[in-house]
Amino acid sequence: MTDTATQPAADTAATSTDDEAAYDVPADATAYSCSYCGRPFARESWLALHRGLAHPNELDDEEVEAFRVAHDEEEESLSTFRLQALGALVLIYFGFLMVYALV
Ligand SMILES: [Zn+2]
Repeated sequence: MTDTATQPAADTAATSTDDEAAYDVPADATAYSCSYCGRPFARESWLALHRGLAHPNELDDEEVEAFRVAHDEEEESLSTFRLQALGALVLIYFGFLMVYALV
């Protein structure tokens, strides 16, 4: 009972400290900062994705186009990863099946 009562307070405390200390950018790292909220990103495509997802109504045409390109690239790499994961699962499944059949 006391755990559930204290849980929300602990969560809000954690998120408020996350906002303050979340962006620990090393001094020698190049960071692409969001011009709307200042959040830093290690890659320009991640910044473009963030702008499209967090600030969709404030973008100009160039930023919208950058978001679409980054989104398409992300979708493509995700579908590639899904295919590779499915292939690995099939290999593992039939590998274990063959081991079970032989042993
Ligand atoms: Zn932002």
